[in-house]
Amino acid sequence: SPSLVWFRDDLRLADNPALRAAIDRGEPVIALYVLDEESPGIRPLGGAARWWLHHSLASLDERLRERGGALVLRRGAAGHVVREAVADVGAGAVFWNRRYGGAEREIDSSLKSALRAEGLEVASFAASLLHEPRTVTTGSGTHYSVFTPFWRACLALPAPRAPLPEPRTVDGPDHVPASDALDDWDLLPTRPDWAGGLRDTWEPGEPAARRRLTEFLAHDLPSYDRARDEPAAGATSLLSPRLRWGEISPFTVWHEAVGVDGAGGFLSELGWREFAWHTLYHSPDLATRNLRREFDAFPWPPLDPAHLEAWQHGETGVPLVDAGMRELWHTGYMHNRVRMVVASFLVKNLLIDWRLGEEWFWDTLVDADEANNPFNWQWVAGSGADAAPYFRVFNPELQAKKFDPQGLYISQWASEAPTEPIVDLGETRKAALAAYDEVKRAP
Ligand code: FAD
Repeated sequence: SPSLVWFRDDLRLADNPALRAAIDRGEPVIALYVLDEESPGIRPLGGAARWWLHHSLASLDERLRERGGALVLRRGAAGHVVREAVADVGAGAVFWNRRYGGAEREIDSSLKSALRAEGLEVASFAASLLHEPRTVTTGSGTHYSVFTPFWRACLALPAPRAPLPEPRTVDGPDHVPASDALDDWDLLPTRPDWAGGLRDTWEPGEPAARRRLTEFLAHDLPSYDRARDEPAAGATSLLSPRLRWGEISPFTVWHEAVGVDGAGGFLSELGWREFAWHTLYHSPDLATRNLRREFDAFPWPPLDPAHLEAWQHGETGVPLVDAGMRELWHTGYMHNRVRMVVASFLVKNLLIDWRLGEEWFWDTLVDADEANNPFNWQWVAGSGADAAPYFRVFNPELQAKKFDPQGLYISQWASEAPTEPIVDLGETRKAALAAYDEVKRAP
């Protein structure tokens, strides 16, 4: 009886323990991907994410075929669709790598029980985080809410396991079960086709992720600590969408970087990714609820849709903000320093609820991540775990002077003569701090 490998956020062959377990079982292997837009609590993918997923699945399919395997695509509520696929192929075992979102965990655990009750072998594996959230606990057994002790605790745990090699062959079944056609999923935009900038910028898929890691380690890691905050320097790894989709495993990244001189700063960014997932694991409603509940008292003024739109389209008249928002729209990516600046501007100068910014990022980022995105929005807003204090308002002009001193980034994305900002930075900052007083007064 064949083994089914259910691929999710792990679109790779190398260091894929679920795939390895299926191959080791010695029966034909069938790879399954389910596009789940139906299960309650599963957040529908944004537009840029759908674009990436399409290409990453096409790449995975090709790589599986080259090795003798097959990828089956199905659509619907995963709990139902996986069981249907199991029945269709007469699978005797099902393997997957674990997910850590609230709704995902519920689906996976009830599926595991149901399949086991039917007599199937089912096993799940740790593959997308260096340390599973429940394994990192404080001395008193609770979870962490501050990054530094969290990361210190991670570093004190046994080192992350070595990555598994890529399988050379994946023996598929004699008859490939019915599959949807990827094109029928309509993951790519058509009218209008807004993905030209994404195509120019990215190559999704495991081989390109692998190449980017090699190139980053050889050329960029030595200057990472010095240049990582400069948006024009191209000094960061650009691994975020690859890690998001699991085209490369954090174990691979960790093991290849850890011996390199000066890698500590880079590795601690992987630590922030771990911390964001740790936080989501313990607060599954991270994208919708203030982690610090006193922020529920924040007196958001009525939304000014023109301000929100100006921000989304990079037309605020604040050069660094506009440059960032246009980079995002064009490439599906924005440099981290600029993400912090545009987020601060939305929340603390336009006084627009961080959730609306988070939603826009969710729709437009190729690395839009269920944990990292809301975690970082709450970090900037001041409502999150180990967050920047609310009263620290980024000044986009000073940030530009400091991190884009020659204006290279701004001239790349927002080269026109500056116009008047849509709001006065000083006045709005004062208004934001006054609004924050209400949070401080909240019981
Ligand atoms: P590098 O500097 O090379 O870092 C290496 C890896 O570490 C990244 O690929 C990423 O996986 C992780 N990482 C780095 N910084 C952070 C961070 N602050 N939090 C969590 N993980 C981090 N990152 C996402 O992956 N998805 C998101 O949806 C996302 N939304 C964000 C929203 C806001 C408002 C802000 C301020 C940051 C957000 N980030 C998000 C974090 C960060 O901006 C990106 O991970 C980073 O810019 C990706 O570029 P890189 O891969 O070159 O990073």
